[in-house]
Amino acid sequence: MKGFEFYLPVEIIFGLGSVKRVGEIARRFGFKALIVTGKKSAKESGALDQVLGSLEEAGIREVILFDGVEPNPTDKQVNTASDIAVREKVDFIIGLGGGSSLDVAKAVSIVSSNEGYAWDYVSYPEGSRLIPFLNRPVICIPTTAGTGSEVNRYSVISNPIRKEKLVISHSLNYPKVAIVDPALTKSMDAKLTAITGIDAFIHALESFTNRAYNPIADDLAIRSIKIIREWLPIAVEDPQNIKAREMMSYSAMLAGMAIDKKRVALIHIMEHPVSAHYPFVAHGEGLAILAPVVTDFNCRGNSEKYALFAEIMGYEKKASKAVNALMDLLERVNLTLSLKSLGVKRESLERFTEDVLMLSGASLKINPVEPSPEDIYHIYEKAYEGF
Ligand code: NAP
Ligand code: FE
Repeated sequence: MKGFEFYLPVEIIFGLGSVKRVGEIARRFGFKALIVTGKKSAKESGALDQVLGSLEEAGIREVILFDGVEPNPTDKQVNTASDIAVREKVDFIIGLGGGSSLDVAKAVSIVSSNEGYAWDYVSYPEGSRLIPFLNRPVICIPTTAGTGSEVNRYSVISNPIRKEKLVISHSLNYPKVAIVDPALTKSMDAKLTAITGIDAFIHALESFTNRAYNPIADDLAIRSIKIIREWLPIAVEDPQNIKAREMMSYSAMLAGMAIDKKRVALIHIMEHPVSAHYPFVAHGEGLAILAPVVTDFNCRGNSEKYALFAEIMGYEKKASKAVNALMDLLERVNLTLSLKSLGVKRESLERFTEDVLMLSGASLKINPVEPSPEDIYHIYEKAYEGF
Protein backbone atom coordinates (compact mmCIF):
# COMPACT_ATOMS: atom_id res chain seq x y z
CA MET A 1 0.00 0.00 0.00
CA LYS A 2 1.28 3.46 -0.86
CA GLY A 3 1.50 6.03 1.93
CA PHE A 4 -1.33 8.51 2.41
CA GLU A 5 -2.52 11.36 4.63
CA PHE A 6 -5.84 12.11 6.26
CA TYR A 7 -6.64 15.38 8.01
CA LEU A 8 -10.22 16.33 8.79
CA PRO A 9 -10.58 18.71 11.71
CA VAL A 10 -14.38 18.77 12.03
CA GLU A 11 -16.21 17.57 15.13
CA ILE A 12 -19.29 15.62 14.06
CA ILE A 13 -22.43 15.39 16.14
CA PHE A 14 -24.83 13.08 14.33
CA GLY A 15 -28.30 11.91 15.24
CA LEU A 16 -32.02 12.54 15.36
CA GLY A 17 -32.71 15.56 17.55
CA SER A 18 -29.05 16.64 17.64
CA VAL A 19 -30.00 20.15 16.44
CA LYS A 20 -31.13 20.82 20.02
CA ARG A 21 -27.49 20.68 21.12
CA VAL A 22 -26.46 23.73 19.11
CA GLY A 23 -26.77 26.12 22.09
CA GLU A 24 -24.61 24.02 24.38
CA ILE A 25 -21.95 23.68 21.66
CA ALA A 26 -22.09 27.32 20.58
CA ARG A 27 -21.21 28.53 24.09
CA ARG A 28 -17.63 27.42 23.50
CA PHE A 29 -17.33 30.05 20.80
CA GLY A 30 -18.84 33.12 22.49
CA PHE A 31 -22.11 34.92 22.99
CA LYS A 32 -22.92 36.65 19.71
CA ALA A 33 -24.03 34.56 16.75
CA LEU A 34 -24.68 35.19 13.06
CA ILE A 35 -27.08 32.66 11.56
CA VAL A 36 -26.65 32.28 7.80
CA THR A 37 -29.61 30.66 6.06
CA GLY A 38 -31.86 30.69 2.99
CA LYS A 39 -34.98 32.73 2.35
CA LYS A 40 -37.71 30.28 3.32
CA SER A 41 -37.15 26.62 4.08
CA ALA A 42 -35.57 26.81 7.56
CA LYS A 43 -38.37 29.12 8.72
CA GLU A 44 -41.12 26.99 7.20
CA SER A 45 -39.79 23.67 8.48
CA GLY A 46 -39.27 24.93 12.03
CA ALA A 47 -35.49 24.28 11.87
CA LEU A 48 -34.72 27.95 12.54
CA ASP A 49 -36.99 28.03 15.60
CA GLN A 50 -35.28 24.94 16.96
CA VAL A 51 -31.88 26.61 16.60
CA LEU A 52 -33.08 29.89 18.14
CA GLY A 53 -34.72 28.01 21.04
CA SER A 54 -31.56 26.05 21.80
CA LEU A 55 -29.38 29.18 21.66
CA GLU A 56 -31.70 31.01 24.01
CA GLU A 57 -31.69 28.15 26.49
CA ALA A 58 -27.91 28.27 26.48
CA GLY A 59 -27.96 31.99 27.26
CA ILE A 60 -26.95 33.14 23.78
CA ARG A 61 -29.38 36.01 23.28
CA GLU A 62 -27.50 38.12 20.77
CA VAL A 63 -28.41 36.47 17.50
CA ILE A 64 -28.32 38.16 14.10
CA LEU A 65 -30.09 36.57 11.16
CA PHE A 66 -28.84 36.73 7.58
CA ASP A 67 -31.52 34.99 5.51
CA GLY A 68 -30.43 36.10 2.06
CA VAL A 69 -28.73 32.94 0.73
CA GLU A 70 -30.07 31.70 -2.61
CA PRO A 71 -29.36 28.41 -4.42
CA ASN A 72 -26.05 28.69 -6.30
CA PRO A 73 -25.04 31.48 -3.91
CA THR A 74 -23.15 34.54 -5.11
CA ASP A 75 -20.03 36.39 -3.98
CA LYS A 76 -22.29 39.37 -3.24
CA GLN A 77 -24.30 37.35 -0.72
CA VAL A 78 -21.04 36.36 1.01
CA ASN A 79 -19.82 39.98 1.04
CA THR A 80 -23.11 41.31 2.44
CA ALA A 81 -23.18 38.74 5.26
CA SER A 82 -19.48 39.35 5.98
CA ASP A 83 -20.11 43.09 6.37
CA ILE A 84 -22.77 42.26 8.95
CA ALA A 85 -20.39 39.90 10.80
CA VAL A 86 -17.72 42.60 10.96
CA ARG A 87 -20.07 45.45 11.87
CA GLU A 88 -21.79 43.45 14.59
CA LYS A 89 -18.54 41.87 15.83
CA VAL A 90 -20.09 38.39 15.94
CA ASP A 91 -18.17 35.69 17.79
CA PHE A 92 -19.19 32.78 15.58
CA ILE A 93 -21.34 31.78 12.61
CA ILE A 94 -24.03 29.13 12.25
CA GLY A 95 -24.76 27.86 8.74
CA LEU A 96 -28.29 26.40 8.63
CA GLY A 97 -29.77 25.03 5.41
CA GLY A 98 -28.71 23.30 2.23
CA GLY A 99 -25.20 23.31 0.84
CA SER A 100 -25.70 26.89 -0.38
CA SER A 101 -26.21 28.23 3.17
CA LEU A 102 -23.35 26.14 4.59
CA ASP A 103 -20.97 27.23 1.81
CA VAL A 104 -21.83 30.89 2.43
CA ALA A 105 -21.44 30.54 6.22
CA LYS A 106 -17.96 29.06 5.75
CA ALA A 107 -16.92 31.72 3.23
CA VAL A 108 -18.22 34.48 5.54
CA SER A 109 -15.94 33.13 8.23
CA ILE A 110 -12.93 33.80 6.00
CA VAL A 111 -14.03 37.02 4.33
CA SER A 112 -15.12 38.64 7.61
CA SER A 113 -11.79 37.79 9.27
CA ASN A 114 -9.35 38.87 6.53
CA GLU A 115 -9.01 41.70 4.04
CA GLY A 116 -10.74 41.76 0.66
CA TYR A 117 -13.90 40.25 -0.76
CA ALA A 118 -15.26 36.76 -1.44
CA TRP A 119 -13.96 36.63 -5.01
CA ASP A 120 -10.40 37.24 -3.78
CA TYR A 121 -10.43 33.80 -2.15
CA VAL A 122 -11.75 31.54 -4.95
CA SER A 123 -9.30 29.19 -6.67
CA TYR A 124 -8.41 30.05 -10.23
CA PRO A 125 -5.91 27.66 -11.87
CA GLU A 126 -3.14 30.09 -10.95
CA GLY A 127 -4.35 30.26 -7.34
CA SER A 128 -6.46 32.72 -5.36
CA ARG A 129 -5.80 36.46 -5.23
CA LEU A 130 -5.53 36.43 -1.42
CA ILE A 131 -4.60 33.76 1.11
CA PRO A 132 -6.57 33.84 4.38
CA PHE A 133 -4.82 33.58 7.72
CA LEU A 134 -7.72 33.96 10.15
CA ASN A 135 -11.27 32.69 10.47
CA ARG A 136 -14.24 32.66 12.85
CA PRO A 137 -15.70 29.44 14.27
CA VAL A 138 -18.48 27.97 12.13
CA ILE A 139 -21.14 25.44 13.11
CA CYS A 140 -22.80 23.78 10.11
CA ILE A 141 -26.29 22.32 10.36
CA PRO A 142 -27.35 20.77 7.02
CA THR A 143 -31.04 20.49 6.09
CA THR A 144 -30.36 18.63 2.82
CA ALA A 145 -28.47 15.34 2.41
CA GLY A 146 -26.20 16.02 -0.51
CA THR A 147 -23.23 18.35 -0.57
CA GLY A 148 -21.31 17.15 2.51
CA SER A 149 -20.25 20.78 2.93
CA GLU A 150 -20.66 20.33 6.71
CA VAL A 151 -17.50 18.21 6.81
CA ASN A 152 -15.28 19.66 4.10
CA ARG A 153 -13.19 22.71 3.27
CA TYR A 154 -15.03 23.80 0.13
CA SER A 155 -17.37 26.72 -0.54
CA VAL A 156 -18.77 26.83 -4.06
CA ILE A 157 -19.53 30.44 -4.98
CA SER A 158 -20.92 32.00 -8.18
CA ASN A 159 -20.03 35.35 -9.69
CA PRO A 160 -23.03 36.41 -11.82
CA ILE A 161 -21.15 39.26 -13.49
CA ARG A 162 -18.27 37.06 -14.65
CA LYS A 163 -20.66 34.07 -15.04
CA GLU A 164 -18.19 31.87 -13.19
CA LYS A 165 -18.72 29.31 -10.43
CA LEU A 166 -15.54 28.62 -8.48
CA VAL A 167 -14.50 27.09 -5.19
CA ILE A 168 -12.90 28.47 -2.05
CA SER A 169 -10.75 25.59 -0.86
CA HIS A 170 -8.63 26.19 2.22
CA SER A 171 -7.99 24.51 5.54
CA LEU A 172 -9.38 27.61 7.30
CA ASN A 173 -12.67 26.94 5.52
CA TYR A 174 -13.48 23.80 7.56
CA PRO A 175 -16.36 24.25 9.98
CA LYS A 176 -15.46 23.63 13.63
CA VAL A 177 -18.56 21.51 14.25
CA ALA A 178 -21.07 19.69 12.03
CA ILE A 179 -24.42 19.01 13.68
CA VAL A 180 -26.13 16.50 11.41
CA ASP A 181 -29.74 15.93 12.41
CA PRO A 182 -31.44 13.79 9.75
CA ALA A 183 -34.89 14.89 10.98
CA LEU A 184 -34.20 18.32 9.45
CA THR A 185 -34.19 16.75 5.96
CA LYS A 186 -37.74 15.35 6.25
CA SER A 187 -39.25 18.55 4.85
CA MET A 188 -37.55 18.02 1.47
CA ASP A 189 -40.00 16.92 -1.23
CA ALA A 190 -39.28 13.97 -3.53
CA LYS A 191 -37.59 16.04 -6.24
CA LEU A 192 -35.24 17.92 -3.89
CA THR A 193 -34.44 14.64 -2.12
CA ALA A 194 -33.45 13.08 -5.46
CA ILE A 195 -31.43 16.06 -6.69
CA THR A 196 -29.43 16.44 -3.47
CA GLY A 197 -29.02 12.68 -2.99
CA ILE A 198 -27.60 12.33 -6.49
CA ASP A 199 -25.05 15.07 -5.68
CA ALA A 200 -23.81 12.91 -2.79
CA PHE A 201 -23.77 9.85 -5.04
CA ILE A 202 -21.71 11.64 -7.70
CA HIS A 203 -19.26 12.82 -5.02
CA ALA A 204 -18.73 9.19 -4.06
CA LEU A 205 -18.51 7.97 -7.66
CA GLU A 206 -16.11 10.70 -8.78
CA SER A 207 -13.79 10.53 -5.80
CA PHE A 208 -13.70 6.73 -6.03
CA THR A 209 -12.86 6.62 -9.73
CA ASN A 210 -10.51 9.58 -10.20
CA ARG A 211 -6.72 9.29 -10.26
CA ALA A 212 -5.99 10.82 -6.87
CA TYR A 213 -4.87 8.32 -4.24
CA ASN A 214 -6.36 7.99 -0.78
CA PRO A 215 -7.57 4.59 0.47
CA ILE A 216 -9.59 6.01 3.39
CA ALA A 217 -11.49 8.23 0.96
CA ASP A 218 -12.16 5.19 -1.25
CA ASP A 219 -13.58 3.23 1.68
CA LEU A 220 -15.82 6.17 2.58
CA ALA A 221 -16.98 6.41 -1.04
CA ILE A 222 -17.73 2.68 -1.35
CA ARG A 223 -19.88 2.74 1.78
CA SER A 224 -21.63 5.86 0.56
CA ILE A 225 -22.41 4.31 -2.85
CA LYS A 226 -23.84 1.18 -1.19
CA ILE A 227 -26.08 3.19 1.13
CA ILE A 228 -27.35 5.59 -1.53
CA ARG A 229 -28.15 2.79 -3.96
CA GLU A 230 -30.32 1.18 -1.32
CA TRP A 231 -31.85 4.13 0.51
CA LEU A 232 -32.18 7.06 -1.93
CA PRO A 233 -35.08 5.47 -3.88
CA ILE A 234 -36.83 4.82 -0.55
CA ALA A 235 -36.32 8.42 0.64
CA VAL A 236 -37.68 9.69 -2.71
CA GLU A 237 -40.76 7.45 -2.57
CA ASP A 238 -41.46 8.05 1.10
CA PRO A 239 -40.03 11.40 2.28
CA GLN A 240 -41.21 10.73 5.86
CA ASN A 241 -39.21 7.48 6.15
CA ILE A 242 -36.84 8.45 8.96
CA LYS A 243 -34.51 5.47 8.53
CA ALA A 244 -34.00 6.46 4.88
CA ARG A 245 -33.36 10.06 5.96
CA GLU A 246 -30.78 8.91 8.50
CA MET A 247 -28.98 6.75 5.96
CA MET A 248 -28.95 9.57 3.39
CA SER A 249 -27.59 12.16 5.85
CA TYR A 250 -24.92 9.68 6.89
CA SER A 251 -23.88 8.75 3.34
CA ALA A 252 -23.80 12.38 2.15
CA MET A 253 -21.45 13.12 5.03
CA LEU A 254 -19.17 10.20 4.12
CA ALA A 255 -19.06 11.33 0.49
CA GLY A 256 -18.34 14.90 1.64
CA MET A 257 -15.26 13.60 3.44
CA ALA A 258 -14.19 11.53 0.43
CA ILE A 259 -14.16 14.60 -1.85
CA ASP A 260 -12.28 16.59 0.75
CA LYS A 261 -9.40 14.15 0.31
CA LYS A 262 -9.68 13.11 -3.36
CA ARG A 263 -11.67 15.95 -4.95
CA VAL A 264 -14.26 15.39 -7.67
CA ALA A 265 -13.73 15.03 -11.44
CA LEU A 266 -15.17 15.76 -14.86
CA ILE A 267 -18.87 15.54 -13.97
CA HIS A 268 -18.51 18.33 -11.40
CA ILE A 269 -16.02 20.25 -13.51
CA MET A 270 -18.49 20.29 -16.42
CA GLU A 271 -21.51 21.08 -14.23
CA HIS A 272 -20.10 24.30 -12.82
CA PRO A 273 -20.26 26.35 -16.06
CA VAL A 274 -23.86 25.15 -16.56
CA SER A 275 -25.17 26.53 -13.25
CA ALA A 276 -22.85 29.56 -13.52
CA HIS A 277 -24.55 30.60 -16.76
CA TYR A 278 -28.00 29.25 -15.81
CA PRO A 279 -28.33 29.76 -12.03
CA PHE A 280 -31.85 28.30 -12.08
CA VAL A 281 -30.31 24.87 -12.80
CA ALA A 282 -29.83 23.01 -9.51
CA HIS A 283 -26.32 21.60 -9.05
CA GLY A 284 -27.65 18.02 -8.67
CA GLU A 285 -29.81 18.31 -11.80
CA GLY A 286 -26.80 19.36 -13.86
CA LEU A 287 -24.81 16.45 -12.45
CA ALA A 288 -27.59 13.96 -13.20
CA ILE A 289 -27.59 15.05 -16.86
CA LEU A 290 -23.82 14.94 -17.32
CA ALA A 291 -23.07 11.83 -15.24
CA PRO A 292 -24.05 9.07 -17.71
CA VAL A 293 -22.28 10.72 -20.68
CA VAL A 294 -19.13 11.43 -18.68
CA THR A 295 -19.10 7.92 -17.18
CA ASP A 296 -19.45 6.42 -20.66
CA PHE A 297 -16.39 8.48 -21.67
CA ASN A 298 -14.40 7.85 -18.47
CA CYS A 299 -14.87 4.15 -17.75
CA ARG A 300 -12.08 2.98 -20.08
CA GLY A 301 -9.64 5.13 -18.05
CA ASN A 302 -9.87 3.41 -14.69
CA SER A 303 -11.69 0.25 -15.70
CA GLU A 304 -10.85 -1.64 -12.51
CA LYS A 305 -12.55 0.97 -10.32
CA TYR A 306 -15.54 1.28 -12.67
CA ALA A 307 -15.94 -2.52 -12.68
CA LEU A 308 -15.89 -2.45 -8.89
CA PHE A 309 -18.45 0.34 -8.91
CA ALA A 310 -20.73 -1.75 -11.17
CA GLU A 311 -20.36 -4.71 -8.80
CA ILE A 312 -21.16 -2.61 -5.71
CA MET A 313 -24.28 -1.43 -7.54
CA GLY A 314 -25.35 -5.04 -8.03
CA TYR A 315 -24.24 -5.49 -11.65
CA GLU A 316 -21.72 -7.71 -13.37
CA LYS A 317 -18.16 -6.69 -12.42
CA LYS A 318 -17.40 -4.96 -15.74
CA ALA A 319 -16.49 -1.33 -16.39
CA SER A 320 -18.95 -1.28 -19.29
CA LYS A 321 -21.81 -1.92 -16.82
CA ALA A 322 -21.07 1.27 -14.85
CA VAL A 323 -23.30 3.39 -17.11
CA ASN A 324 -26.21 0.93 -16.79
CA ALA A 325 -25.87 0.97 -13.02
CA LEU A 326 -25.91 4.76 -12.96
CA MET A 327 -28.80 5.11 -15.44
CA ASP A 328 -30.94 2.66 -13.48
CA LEU A 329 -30.49 4.66 -10.27
CA LEU A 330 -31.27 7.93 -12.07
CA GLU A 331 -34.43 6.37 -13.53
CA ARG A 332 -35.54 5.08 -10.16
CA VAL A 333 -35.34 8.61 -8.70
CA ASN A 334 -36.88 10.28 -11.80
CA LEU A 335 -33.80 12.22 -12.83
CA THR A 336 -33.35 11.35 -16.50
CA LEU A 337 -33.10 14.81 -18.02
CA SER A 338 -31.27 16.73 -20.75
CA LEU A 339 -29.69 20.19 -20.82
CA LYS A 340 -32.25 21.13 -23.47
CA SER A 341 -35.16 20.13 -21.24
CA LEU A 342 -33.88 22.48 -18.53
CA GLY A 343 -33.83 25.49 -20.87
CA VAL A 344 -30.10 25.63 -21.66
CA LYS A 345 -29.42 27.14 -25.11
CA ARG A 346 -27.36 25.16 -27.60
CA GLU A 347 -25.09 28.11 -28.34
CA SER A 348 -23.91 28.07 -24.70
CA LEU A 349 -22.10 24.75 -25.18
CA GLU A 350 -19.05 26.38 -26.74
CA ARG A 351 -18.72 28.86 -23.90
CA PHE A 352 -19.12 26.03 -21.33
CA THR A 353 -16.24 24.22 -23.04
CA GLU A 354 -14.02 27.31 -22.93
CA ASP A 355 -14.86 27.83 -19.25
CA VAL A 356 -13.90 24.26 -18.39
CA LEU A 357 -10.54 24.66 -20.10
CA MET A 358 -9.86 28.12 -18.69
CA LEU A 359 -11.09 27.65 -15.14
CA SER A 360 -10.55 23.95 -14.40
CA GLY A 361 -7.78 22.89 -16.78
CA ALA A 362 -5.51 21.67 -13.96
CA SER A 363 -8.20 19.51 -12.30
CA LEU A 364 -8.74 17.62 -15.57
CA LYS A 365 -5.47 15.80 -14.88
CA ILE A 366 -7.04 13.64 -12.15
CA ASN A 367 -9.98 12.65 -14.35
CA PRO A 368 -9.79 8.94 -15.33
CA VAL A 369 -9.27 10.01 -18.98
CA GLU A 370 -7.84 13.45 -19.70
CA PRO A 371 -10.33 14.95 -22.16
CA SER A 372 -9.43 17.08 -25.19
CA PRO A 373 -11.39 20.28 -25.91
CA GLU A 374 -13.29 18.30 -28.59
CA ASP A 375 -14.15 15.55 -26.09
CA ILE A 376 -15.58 18.12 -23.69
CA TYR A 377 -17.68 19.73 -26.40
CA HIS A 378 -19.01 16.34 -27.57
CA ILE A 379 -19.95 15.39 -24.01
CA TYR A 380 -21.93 18.65 -23.70
CA GLU A 381 -23.60 17.93 -27.06
CA LYS A 382 -24.74 14.50 -25.89
CA ALA A 383 -25.91 15.89 -22.55
CA TYR A 384 -27.83 18.58 -24.45
CA GLU A 385 -29.97 15.95 -26.15
CA GLY A 386 -30.02 13.55 -23.16
CA PHE A 387 -28.14 10.27 -22.86
P1 NAP B 1 -29.40 24.44 -1.76
O1 NAP B 1 -29.02 25.24 -2.94
O2 NAP B 1 -28.76 24.76 -0.47
O3 NAP B 1 -30.96 24.51 -1.55
C1 NAP B 1 -31.84 24.25 -2.63
C2 NAP B 1 -33.28 24.56 -2.23
O4 NAP B 1 -33.68 23.64 -1.22
C3 NAP B 1 -33.47 25.95 -1.66
O5 NAP B 1 -34.59 26.51 -2.27
C4 NAP B 1 -33.72 25.69 -0.16
O6 NAP B 1 -34.63 26.63 0.36
C5 NAP B 1 -34.36 24.33 -0.18
N1 NAP B 1 -34.19 23.53 1.05
C6 NAP B 1 -33.04 23.31 1.76
N2 NAP B 1 -33.30 22.46 2.79
C7 NAP B 1 -34.62 22.15 2.73
C8 NAP B 1 -35.48 21.33 3.51
N3 NAP B 1 -35.03 20.61 4.56
N4 NAP B 1 -36.80 21.27 3.16
C9 NAP B 1 -37.27 21.96 2.09
N5 NAP B 1 -36.51 22.74 1.31
C10 NAP B 1 -35.19 22.83 1.63
O7 NAP B 1 -29.21 22.87 -2.12
P2 NAP B 1 -27.98 21.89 -1.95
O8 NAP B 1 -28.10 20.93 -3.05
O9 NAP B 1 -27.91 21.38 -0.57
O10 NAP B 1 -26.70 22.81 -2.21
C11 NAP B 1 -26.28 23.09 -3.52
C12 NAP B 1 -25.13 24.07 -3.49
O11 NAP B 1 -23.99 23.49 -2.82
C13 NAP B 1 -24.65 24.44 -4.88
O12 NAP B 1 -24.25 25.78 -4.93
C14 NAP B 1 -23.47 23.51 -5.09
O13 NAP B 1 -22.56 23.99 -6.06
C15 NAP B 1 -22.87 23.49 -3.71
N6 NAP B 1 -22.04 22.29 -3.41
C16 NAP B 1 -21.10 22.40 -2.44
C17 NAP B 1 -20.30 21.32 -2.13
C18 NAP B 1 -19.24 21.40 -1.07
O14 NAP B 1 -18.47 20.46 -0.95
N7 NAP B 1 -19.15 22.45 -0.32
C19 NAP B 1 -20.46 20.10 -2.80
C20 NAP B 1 -21.45 20.02 -3.77
C21 NAP B 1 -22.25 21.11 -4.05
P3 NAP B 1 -34.19 28.02 1.08
O15 NAP B 1 -33.28 28.70 0.09
O16 NAP B 1 -35.44 28.72 1.31
O17 NAP B 1 -33.47 27.62 2.32
FE1 FE C 1 -21.45 18.42 -5.68
